[in-house]
Amino acid sequence: MGVGNKRTLTKTRRKTRDVDQIISDLRSAKHLTQYKSTKLSQDLPGLGKNYCVACSRWFDAPSTLTAHERGKPHKRR
Ligand SMILES: [Zn+2]
Repeated sequence: MGVGNKRTLTKTRRKTRDVDQIISDLRSAKHLTQYKSTKLSQDLPGLGKNYCVACSRWFDAPSTLTAHERGKPHKRR
């Protein structure tokens, strides 16, 4: 493995957006669109559809997104 420090490795692996960025997303749709345009839709699960704004996560199917919205991590957000 390239990275020796395990803590750094695990801390950056599931890096999503910062909470303050998400708050901006929730307040202005323009901010969110700007962020989405920086990502290639081909690289995202489900071609960039099924996005949860509050958790800044993509899902591969609408059913997965619906299931996620009922879940605990989402409600905590
Ligand atoms: Zn969510």
